[in-house]
Amino acid sequence: MSENKKTEKIVGVKGMNDILPADAPLWELFENTVQTVLKSYGFQQIRTPIVEPTPLFARGLGAVTDIVEKEMYSFTDSMNGDQLTLRPESTAGVVRAALEHNLTYDGPKRLWYAGPMFRHERPQRGRYRQFHQVGAEAIGFAGPDIDAELIMLCQRLWDDLGLDSIRLELNSIGDAEERSRHRADLIAYFEAHRDQLDADAQRRLHSNPLRILDTKNPAMQELVNAAPKLLDYLGEESKAHFEGVQTILRHSNIPFTINPRLVRGMDYYNRTVFEWVTDQLGSQGTVCGGGRYDPLVEMFGGKPTPACGFAIGVERLLELMKEAGEQFAPNQCDVYLVHQGSEAQLQAFVLGERLRDAGLDVVLHCAAATGVGSFKSQMKRADASGAAFAVIIGEDEVASHTASVKTLRGAEGESSQQRSVEFDKVADYLVTEIISAGHDHDHDHDHDGHVHYKH
Ligand code: ATP
Ligand code: MG
Repeated sequence: MSENKKTEKIVGVKGMNDILPADAPLWELFENTVQTVLKSYGFQQIRTPIVEPTPLFARGLGAVTDIVEKEMYSFTDSMNGDQLTLRPESTAGVVRAALEHNLTYDGPKRLWYAGPMFRHERPQRGRYRQFHQVGAEAIGFAGPDIDAELIMLCQRLWDDLGLDSIRLELNSIGDAEERSRHRADLIAYFEAHRDQLDADAQRRLHSNPLRILDTKNPAMQELVNAAPKLLDYLGEESKAHFEGVQTILRHSNIPFTINPRLVRGMDYYNRTVFEWVTDQLGSQGTVCGGGRYDPLVEMFGGKPTPACGFAIGVERLLELMKEAGEQFAPNQCDVYLVHQGSEAQLQAFVLGERLRDAGLDVVLHCAAATGVGSFKSQMKRADASGAAFAVIIGEDEVASHTASVKTLRGAEGESSQQRSVEFDKVADYLVTEIISAGHDHDHDHDHDGHVHYKH
């Protein structure tokens, strides 16, 4: 390699995004809100590994699903030959963990998780190869009540986030026996119209005909609209369950539409399935999908255990929050500490800790590649930091045991204010100033305007 040839830059993996500091406050706002809502319904967090044995998904999701067919990041562990997969979703992992640790030994459990998922899809708006989900899994619950509760929890979350363009689509896909009767009729119907099926549908005709109903191909819409409807095949128990969910939703004023063509991607679903959709995000408009998956625990070798859950696509939801003009606190600190001289720097470290003890967010000026910089260049950094105050320690301040406090942001005319404050009183002074000026930039994401500074 020639000496002066520039080293090539390494860029990130296609379809996997960096979440940059400018977007972090939006993520935090979402994460805090969703945690608060989940907690308010008694859900407990579970954290499972990102890597799972490949058979977990192959068995759990069903071999003929989109995910298992073509979207999984699977690899062989070169150390021991194990077949491993980056999780494409979390239900399988959560159920595996619940079984492995016998979490439902003393009754049903409400669980939730958050984290990155991996699917090898064609990247586009709202569809990435690494994306994030927040999901809930209610394991061991059999009745329609928990289905309705999960849906209500989502509605509360949209409300708390100020999102009013998300609507609920609901369906029941019955049990295995009901689906198999429907399936036989469905195959017969599609076979009679074979000439109208696209390649995907031809391929699925015998493996997974239910998924044909889910087609996005405009040319097939009329055909699938007139196909036999699974809802007409539901037996008494499935019907009663579906009615039960609807009764609670109606009584709780949660609007929904029944979409008889709604099926879910994974094989493990039964009875209630639902999606939350919006028209504001183009073709990637589903922000959350969920449903009941009673057969899954048994498929993993556990005793029959009913369960129900949902997963939110975080990127899509954040996109929607941006569209809705969601306001969130930008990255900011309370104080930027400026210092000049080696004694002043040591003092600045001491003061910085005291201010943090008092609950303030403090950025202490540190040397860049060009050095610590002049007073003027430090003040520029202070301004750019978004801090409400610059606290300055120079030689004079060291000598007089004071610090100079300069207001950087405030009411008109206030911003030129600078005063000398005794070193020991800077923390108290700033806390009082911040409270009285309402300078609080949303510490602890407290939306009711309370400020939590320690004294
Ligand atoms: P789609 O039909 O859009 O492919 P899906 O049925 O595969 O969705 P689920 O497995 O139910 O999606 O995942 C739940 C949610 O996760 C989706 O509703 C969506 O919001 C989000 N999601 C799924 N795949 C992706 C992806 N590749 N990129 C971003 N978000 C995704
Ligand atoms: Mg998909």
